[in-house]
Amino acid sequence: MKRREFLSLSAFMAVVAACNDLTDNDKFKDTSDTVIVIGAGMAGLGAARQLRDKGYSVKVLEGRDRIGGRVWTSRFWPETPVDLGASWIHGVKGNPLTKLANEAGVTRIETNYDNYILYKTNGEVANAKFRSRMQRLFDQLVKAVSRQAEDGMTLRESIEATPIWAELSAQEKQQIMHIINVTVEHEFAGGIGEMSAVNFDDSEVFGGEDVLFPDGYARITEYLSRDLDIQLEQIVEAVTYGDDGVTIKTNQDLFTADRVIVTLPIGVLKNGTVKFNPPLPAEKQRAILTIGAGLLDKLFLRFPKIFWNEKVEILDWISEKHGRWNEWLNIAFYTGKPILLGFNAADYARQIESWSDREIVADAMRVLRTIYGNDIPNPESWQLSRWRLDPFAFCSYSFNGIGASADTRNTLGKAVGNRLFFAGEATSEDYPGTVHGAYLSGVNAASTIMKL
Ligand SMILES: Cc1cc2nc3c(=O)[nH]c(=O)nc-3n(C[C@H](O)[C@H](O)[C@H](O)COP(=O)(O)OP(=O)(O)OC[C@H]3O[C@@H](n4cnc5c(N)ncnc54)[C@H](O)[C@@H]3O)c2cc1C
Repeated sequence: MKRREFLSLSAFMAVVAACNDLTDNDKFKDTSDTVIVIGAGMAGLGAARQLRDKGYSVKVLEGRDRIGGRVWTSRFWPETPVDLGASWIHGVKGNPLTKLANEAGVTRIETNYDNYILYKTNGEVANAKFRSRMQRLFDQLVKAVSRQAEDGMTLRESIEATPIWAELSAQEKQQIMHIINVTVEHEFAGGIGEMSAVNFDDSEVFGGEDVLFPDGYARITEYLSRDLDIQLEQIVEAVTYGDDGVTIKTNQDLFTADRVIVTLPIGVLKNGTVKFNPPLPAEKQRAILTIGAGLLDKLFLRFPKIFWNEKVEILDWISEKHGRWNEWLNIAFYTGKPILLGFNAADYARQIESWSDREIVADAMRVLRTIYGNDIPNPESWQLSRWRLDPFAFCSYSFNGIGASADTRNTLGKAVGNRLFFAGEATSEDYPGTVHGAYLSGVNAASTIMKL
């Protein structure tokens, strides 16, 4: 869940420049190149769409049996599609996804993050005075951290080094850690013990509201994928590149092309499941090591009836254990269906990913019973994600670990010769960790090829 709201002029100009490139038909006349795009997520689909529309011969190789990647709408509950990956367009103003959603005619609903209720650890509702005191302490801490943060420090180290931290009571620390979890760890998918104190939020944002897709985010990826040559279940194992072109070995076939756009997630690049021959340049390998592979997981619980306040959009709970089921989204508010969506990020999400579904649901239900009492019904059904264990992602999205910054992402996104091009959310200097960042990175990679 992301909640920041401004668009820097430089970021806005970059988007305008990217879009201008693509509307200038005269610039791209030679379409004899063949291009293969690895990955049918937003970056890959964005790239393939641009190239196809300009007459290039383009093929997309996707390892999964579906398109979309980390945009993943499940229709397991046919009457209520749910997004197990991305949910929101973060900032609709000037966001290229707004244009796509308009073209595709997709319904969107605004989220109001101020429409929330906060529960204390014992399940009591926190009143306005309690909430504003917590917020005041948090604001003071943020100011102190910005003075304290130094290169090489994690966010946790910089928090603990502030004079104000030492003065807080154990309860106050727990309350502040709650805010840090839901506003920082959920947003960047990294833990405070692993994110860079200086660069954790090194990114830009679009202005305007955040919107959800009640019919599922996949409406956008489906729209982008129309008429594209996409081959599913082609798991890329090796990419060999040289003066003569590129050869790609998958679990099924060999493919050749003049150029390749690689949109593999940072988790997959870190894992080394795809071999590059010759190996990628040293600076790119360093970037792969430095950029963090973050985790945000979701659990949708469908109940026989609504037992919570259906007029509130977000339900927050201050946990004793850091990051445990701190935030829930009331899906009933948007769909009228008795569904809650719980989030976990970073350390706690990592801890529970190896549990069985039943253990995860039981843990979530203990928390809901603390808040709403023992009489609430058990869920009829559930759906959940385990993004770190997913062999086509090994993460939810990237974060800036120690030493990582927008420059590192630039290095990750650099082309290798005129053969290998890179896109994907982790390569986005301005909008990492987002659907629009992934999309724009794909559009930019396509635009670079079209200018060759
Ligand atoms: C739980 C969660 C919540 C999120 N919430 C939001 C949100 O609300 N708003 C937002 O803007 N962003 C959100 N994000 C981030 C957003 O989903 C991603 O940044 C974006 O979708 C990434 O797109 P991509 O094309 O870079 O990567 P991907 O979508 O991962 O695409 C890469 C593709 O490569 C494929 N692939 C991997 N390995 C191979 C292989 N060996 N061979 C062939 N294909 C392979 C994958 O299957 C995948 O389809 C969220 C992500 C998660 C996980």
